[in-house]
Amino acid sequence: MPGKNLSRDEAQQRASILAVDSYRVRLDVTSAPDPAAATFRSTTTVAFRCSQPGAATFLDLLAPAVRSVTLNGRSIDPATAYDGARVHVDGLAAENVLTVEADCAYSRTGEGLHRFTDPVDGETYLYTHYEPADARRVFATFEQPDLKAPFSFTVTAPAAWDVWSNAVHEDVVEEGAARTWEFAPTKPISTYLTAVVAGPYHVARDHYSRELADGTTLEIPLSAMCRKSLAPSFDADEILGVTKLGLDFFHEEFDYPYPFGKYDQAFVPEYNIGAMENPGCVTFREEFVFRSKVTDAAYEGRANVILHEMAHMWFGDLVTMRWWDDLWLKESFADFMGSYGLIGARTRYSSAWVTFANQRKAWAYRQDQFPTTHPITADIRDLEDAKLNFDGITYAKGAAVLKQLVAYVGSEAFFEGARRYFQRHAFGNTELADLLDVLEETSGRDLKAWAAAWLQTAGVDSLTPQVTTDAEGRITELAVLQDGEVLRPHRIAVGLYDRDADGSLVRTGRIELDVTGNRTVVAEAAGRPRPALVLLNDEDLTYCKIRFDAESLQTLRAGLGDIHDELARALAWSAVWNLTRDGLMPARDYVALVLRFAGQEGNIGVLQSLHTQAKTAVDLYADPNWRAEGGRLLADGALRELREAVPGSDHQLAWARFLAQTAGGAEHLGLVRGLLAGSARIDGLDVDQELRWSLWLALAAAGQAGDEELAGELAADNTASGKRRYTQCLAARPTAEAKAVAWSAVVDSEELPNALVEANIAGFAVPAHRDLTALYAAPYFKLLERVWSERTIEIAMRIVGGFFPHAQTDEQTLAEADAWLDGHPQAAPALRRLVLECRDDLARALRAQACDRA
Ligand SMILES: [Zn+2]
Repeated sequence: MPGKNLSRDEAQQRASILAVDSYRVRLDVTSAPDPAAATFRSTTTVAFRCSQPGAATFLDLLAPAVRSVTLNGRSIDPATAYDGARVHVDGLAAENVLTVEADCAYSRTGEGLHRFTDPVDGETYLYTHYEPADARRVFATFEQPDLKAPFSFTVTAPAAWDVWSNAVHEDVVEEGAARTWEFAPTKPISTYLTAVVAGPYHVARDHYSRELADGTTLEIPLSAMCRKSLAPSFDADEILGVTKLGLDFFHEEFDYPYPFGKYDQAFVPEYNIGAMENPGCVTFREEFVFRSKVTDAAYEGRANVILHEMAHMWFGDLVTMRWWDDLWLKESFADFMGSYGLIGARTRYSSAWVTFANQRKAWAYRQDQFPTTHPITADIRDLEDAKLNFDGITYAKGAAVLKQLVAYVGSEAFFEGARRYFQRHAFGNTELADLLDVLEETSGRDLKAWAAAWLQTAGVDSLTPQVTTDAEGRITELAVLQDGEVLRPHRIAVGLYDRDADGSLVRTGRIELDVTGNRTVVAEAAGRPRPALVLLNDEDLTYCKIRFDAESLQTLRAGLGDIHDELARALAWSAVWNLTRDGLMPARDYVALVLRFAGQEGNIGVLQSLHTQAKTAVDLYADPNWRAEGGRLLADGALRELREAVPGSDHQLAWARFLAQTAGGAEHLGLVRGLLAGSARIDGLDVDQELRWSLWLALAAAGQAGDEELAGELAADNTASGKRRYTQCLAARPTAEAKAVAWSAVVDSEELPNALVEANIAGFAVPAHRDLTALYAAPYFKLLERVWSERTIEIAMRIVGGFFPHAQTDEQTLAEADAWLDGHPQAAPALRRLVLECRDDLARALRAQACDRA
């Protein structure tokens, strides 16, 4: 569709002549409960100035029909003005009023105004999600972040519903079966940040107040909502408790009163991402409402997201990037603040930096080694580029680099810089230079070289210790070798570890220094006894891959689990995983480390990532000839640890899930069936609904779940979640027919909502079914361009990434991927980027397999 993929040049051009004064948006969603109604009425009136009277411009709009266009009282024929993506107008005056009346579509892909009907009670729920550019699916807009304006929403909805938006409602008028909600004008905000949530949601209300420095009191009404049928599982007190701690903390750190009035948090169905920072009306995926037991890692993850979105009220909503090149200006900060805030706000999640080091940074390391990686400040030509940049670089690497910046300039200078940034740019838009300006002022350091090295270049460095000793075993020299395309300044701590009397590996020395260039001598280390383990980047101050000297690696092989400090141990786990991914440690050695030491791992989040990684090691990185044995070892290990875990503990649940993921042999599957039937019991293990589905998935993937059994489980759990899990089980059966049905449901029709697309792909792609799914490699490459052009980008991304033949780790599939890339130089850059990344994963798997074979 011409004009759908707005370019940076077009946005710059539009911003150079326009200033927007206000939007008034009227939506009529009274038809939403009727599944036959495909559209809703949307009327936008935008008032804007133009510095070049007589010029032409366009509004963005993706709507099935435009009914009328009126510019300054002049009616314009929609048939000529609207091309399917843009409403073109010319002859602009200095001051303009433009009204567009359209029929917009209810969404089933999570983009725009998403509509969901609850199978439990038949109730319908709506919410919007726009970032980066889907407000135009709901109303006519200048869809770019730097044309901010106050928005006034009016929403007409069924009378039994409640409606929320960014601002408070000023009036509600009932008329027959409908109610019309008039919302107050917002502060000036970007289009992608506007929001509407509507439906018979269950609501919990609370209140936050705070004395400000000027003697006034800031009052913030709070609410949290979810679907009615989830209400029994909704722990609003916990959610609102974290919310209040966060509001205290960010007010102390940022010294700028929360600018958006009230603070609503809606947990909404079939949400594509974790959450979205709409000012005053944050939306979250409703999987954060836990309907079965989850581990504390899930609670920590949710609290992190709550604080991440809250940080955005300042970083992103109050001060917004000019264009998507500087997306990091909000996401890196919010990602950093999510972890920093969990500690600083004194939540109970005191291991937040362990999670960050071990899991969040794994995302960054992976992304940063793709051939498609990019600097943290990116070059974003258009909206498709923007959509793909919500990635491990913009979030996790950016946050890691900010952590390094705090180590480099000190936290006082860092936060004082943030405070000046808010004061100076409130309700405005910024670029990298605006941030560097305030940080240079507060730190007194020239940050241009630092920014060039860290923000404007791509790739991850490796740091390796080089230790020489004398005849008495004393260090004669400890050097840090840096390897990477860009050698950066790293502020690091070096930890020296030895065994204590109990056999634990504990830190006996810590040296902090700046590492620069390819070799830096740690002068302070000379003369000390050679330790059992040299841990570079102890405390995880910088962003790098850690390597080891031979003796330290030997220490880890013999006793990784004995490292006493939780963060140091998590760093060691992360490092050996990177060695495995890089083909420097055989996959079976990594699996052996997990089998030997995971049972000792106290941190539940780290344990769960060990499970995921060990499974990946066997499925993709191990020699295929060893794969079956590796799988058996994992399942045996899972069963052993499940039986030994403390009854009722998070660890017990994690091992039960891991058993479900790895079960293959008769003994394991027999226990799985017994747990489902109630004939087998593990003391303290509650086989609740979500665990039941995990167990059914194990049986389904092994070809041991019958149609009637699965249908019976769905009948007992006829919920949105149950339907997803059931769909995944059907697709996970090891038959040609099951794979064909799942493939076709996703590829040949647009009927399925986003959540069921995901469930079908997940079931289809069971790695152990690689013989069955091999047939789909060739069709996959044939359909790529069609999918990219016909489906929305969210769905297209899932199909391209999910149906890539990841499990076909062989040279032939690699050659097929290369052939597609060679043959399609003109394909959309964003599509090529996705295929290149999948291709790179495959090449990495082949390298790792070669290492494992050797
Ligand atoms: Zn964010």
